[in-house]
Amino acid sequence: MLTTHPFDDDKLREECGVFGVLGPLDAAALVALGLHALQHRGQEAAGIVSFDGRDFPSHRALGQVGDIFGSEAVMRSLKGNAAIGHVRYATTGETAVRNVQPLYAEFEFGGFALAHNGNLTNALMLRRQLVRRGCLFQSTTDTETIIHLMATARGGNVIDRLVEALRQVEGAYSLVCLGKDQVIGVRDPSGVRPLVLGMLGEHPVLASETVALDIIGAEYIRDVAPGEMVVLEAGQVQSLRPFQSAPSKFCIFEYIYFARPDSFMEGHSVYEVRKKIGAQLAIESNVDADIVIPVPDSGVPAALGYAEESGISFDLGIIRNHYVGRTFIQPTDKIRRLGVKLKHNANRAYIQGKRVILVDDSIVRGTTSVKIVEMMRDAGAKEVHMRISSPPTSHSCFYGIDTPEKEKLLAHKLSVEEMRRFIGADSLAFISLDGLYKALGHAKRDAGAQYCDACFTGDYPIPLTDFEAPRPADVHQLAERRA
Ligand code: AMP
Repeated sequence: MLTTHPFDDDKLREECGVFGVLGPLDAAALVALGLHALQHRGQEAAGIVSFDGRDFPSHRALGQVGDIFGSEAVMRSLKGNAAIGHVRYATTGETAVRNVQPLYAEFEFGGFALAHNGNLTNALMLRRQLVRRGCLFQSTTDTETIIHLMATARGGNVIDRLVEALRQVEGAYSLVCLGKDQVIGVRDPSGVRPLVLGMLGEHPVLASETVALDIIGAEYIRDVAPGEMVVLEAGQVQSLRPFQSAPSKFCIFEYIYFARPDSFMEGHSVYEVRKKIGAQLAIESNVDADIVIPVPDSGVPAALGYAEESGISFDLGIIRNHYVGRTFIQPTDKIRRLGVKLKHNANRAYIQGKRVILVDDSIVRGTTSVKIVEMMRDAGAKEVHMRISSPPTSHSCFYGIDTPEKEKLLAHKLSVEEMRRFIGADSLAFISLDGLYKALGHAKRDAGAQYCDACFTGDYPIPLTDFEAPRPADVHQLAERRA
């Protein structure tokens, strides 16, 4: 994660995936496969660090997993029977190799590597304190703060130091760490980001999602619990609970968009949840129409659920070109708009003269919806009704999902009716918050909320210390004024 002030740019946070395995001879090769399955969680950079009994060979680069780890020479260099890896999705100029994880440090007790999915919300504050104490940061990632907190901890073994460091940080983190003959997994006390434990024969495996276990043939054992630290050592899995417990706040957006549909989270099939959300959306806001069309690929399961519930036929009315990156990777609005056209094309034969229901998972800036609605009209649709399988995204995420600053979110600026006009649809409806919870098996959203749904409610379960504190420039000005 990046530690630049959050409001300096609209693309500062990252999305990531982590993976670790202890035991097998070809550990790094398994990590490369695991990262491949987690590619959707981060497409800009990837890295692997292994332990060969003495050294910690590593390889990190910008790019996608297949390109970075497709070379035999690279894979041969990553020796050892323990390894961890990371995929990262950064979107600022700070996409530098020095920020690519896993981060590595030499401590008194030996080498230690760390891969982080999530976003710390007091890392800037801690970083300033650490810099004042003489710590020299090598990167701009918030993850490095954990390394320095470990270095300046009162002592003890690697576990003691990691626990002492993590007790000081706030925010969302699922970590996979590598020490000498040891792989460690940790989830923050609220369990915002996922982390699962699997077994490959007698070898324990940690991964952001179960799809990464599937690809190496590992068996899913269980989710690492919120606030749990699992220590994998000599084939054993030790479970520790070193943090004060907090209510579980798993990210609801993992279900809506972020996770792969073939993953299981908290025991739920993500695909099935998405279908149920689509069905609920149809119950709440169906309209007379001829065809249900998903915005591919993320809208597909919800559209299937919608079509099943409404009895309206489902068809692939938009075909996606798979050889272009996600729209979000594009750095400027102009290129982003172009990106949407590059990505989708109307399947005219199925649209001409039809009343169309489009199903997508979310509206962020509105760029995709505007283009897709226009595309439907150009292809001869008689009516275009937009249905969204999440409530309006009105707040930024500070816990590891890449979202623009609040001011750029369409739902922050406009009412649903204004959004409808903006995207040019005949009607627009979002699933209700209670409906979303219903699809997840709850009667409704409790007052305390069973998930982190801050992007829809502004109800942030973990303090946003850095984001509420004055910016360094403001502090400087304040100091000048006082002088
Ligand atoms: P927008 O075009 O800005 O309204 O973004 C909405 C589209 O982006 C939807 O089709 C989503 O599938 C997709 N999307 C939503 N959230 C994200 C995210 N955090 N990263 C990348 N794509 C996203």
